[in-house]
This record gives sequence, structure tokens and C-alpha cells, in this order.
Amino acid sequence: MADASLPDLLRFYRDLGFTELRAPRIFAATQAAAASKPRPAANLRPAPLSPAAPAMRHEPASVWNYQPSKDIIQAGTGDGERVPEQILLKIQQDMGECTRCVLHQGRTKIVFGNGNPSAKLVFVGEGPGSDEDAQGLPFVGRAGQLLTQMINNTATGEGISIQRDDVYICNVVKCRPPGNRAPEPEEMKTCGQFLDRQLDAIRPRAICVLGGTAAKYLLDTSVGITKLRGEWQDWHGIPVMPTFHPSFLLRAYNKEGKRQTWEDLKKVLHYVYD
Ligand code: SF4
Repeated sequence: MADASLPDLLRFYRDLGFTELRAPRIFAATQAAAASKPRPAANLRPAPLSPAAPAMRHEPASVWNYQPSKDIIQAGTGDGERVPEQILLKIQQDMGECTRCVLHQGRTKIVFGNGNPSAKLVFVGEGPGSDEDAQGLPFVGRAGQLLTQMINNTATGEGISIQRDDVYICNVVKCRPPGNRAPEPEEMKTCGQFLDRQLDAIRPRAICVLGGTAAKYLLDTSVGITKLRGEWQDWHGIPVMPTFHPSFLLRAYNKEGKRQTWEDLKKVLHYVYD
């Protein structure tokens, strides 16, 4: 957004999925004037858009305990060939009406995940909210709608012919934490076995992890999302791009976070689909 003109700024917000731009009444005049000024170049980092394996900033995640079981491999064709859709179904069957952690107590529906079982790109959030809990589908509330618009609009803007249905979307925990609190580490560890199996079934070209809580689990790190975002990480050989959770972007006065997420999304889309 350095030297951004008003049309550039409008495209930025359109790609992020914002269809309406409103300023609080008392600040409207000030913000309109500010919007027409060029943005400072500080903090901008050019994205290395290379189809080659991206450079990792941190060491790969620690030891991965999950090993695909014979059952899961045989859920494919029976001869060891891996068929992601069938493996995902087997994982869902194994999960059943799960009561492995306390989160089952407050849930309406388990939110397993949805999208293309053979997706080249998987988005991982932390857990379902109230809309997701009611519908049994991930990212269908306000934050989910923003994520959908971000994927669709950024892909279209970058000339990449994918939409939300082409990717796979899931969370670390599959049941809604009470009061929308963050899932506890123990809950993520318990439920994370299913996420590990989902990712191993799909084996996407890249993973985009949304928000600090999911990044902590997936990357086994205590580094915060502000430091992690925008730099390639690794999950068992699969490049991972951490970025902000869309619910964070819905907060007011968060322009820098929105710009950074837009840059991260462009980076991951070009890596996967170029
Ligand atoms: S959050 Fe996961 S482990 Fe816990 S009850 Fe739900 S499905 Fe089971």
C-alpha cells in the first residue's frame, strides 16, 4: 500500500471482502482526507512469489507423533492407495459422537471441516463459533463470510481461478468452546489428533493457519502470530503460512492487520496455484 492511490485502497478493501466502508461520523472528514494521502512504505516486505519451496524462517515443528494407521490407508482402495475423500470419511467415523474432551458438553454439532478433499490449500482456524456450532460447518458466521470473500476476491484479483469451494477449511478443535473462549492446550492436543489425520489425508501443497491459537498448536510454538505471520513455516514437510484470524480483522481501526493478511493471502495463493 506504499504510495497507494484511492483506487488501490478500494481494491485492497474489495479483495479483503469489505463491501462497505464506513467511518464513524466525528472522524469521517479526517479519515477521508487521510485515505487520499499516500501510505508510508514502512513495514512493507515484498513477498517472494516463487513456485519453488519457500524458505522457512523457523525450524520445523517438533516430533510428529501421529502415524497413519493401517485402517486409514486401507480406507482408500484397499490396496494401500490413498483416497483423501474416503480417508476423511473414515476419520469422521472414528470421531463419531466424540466425548474425548469437555468441549462436547456445550456443542450442538461437531464441526468436522468441509471443502475439497483433494484441495491444494487448507485453511485451519482454532474452533467453531455459535453459527458454526448451529450449522455444523466451519467459517459460516461473520468471520467466515469475510474469509470466503477474502479467498474469492483475492484469487480473482490476482488472476487465480479458485473459489472457496476449491480449498478445504477446518479447525483445530471440532466443538465450540463455551463463550467463544480460546481452546485450552489440552483440548487442542486431544482434538488435534483428528486435525493431524485430516491434513495427512489431504496432504495439501500449503496450509494457511488463521490466528495465534491455531498456529501455536500446528507449529508447536509459543511465538505470537504478530511475529509469525507472513513467513513460511513447516508442518511435516508441508509449507505453512500463518496469518491473522478473520475475526481479528473485523475489529475497527485495524488497517495494518488487514493489509498484512491480504499480503499473506496473496503470497500463499501464488505459491500454491502459480
Ligand atoms: S473438541 Fe474434539 S476431542 Fe473434544 S469432544 Fe469435540 S470432537 Fe471430541
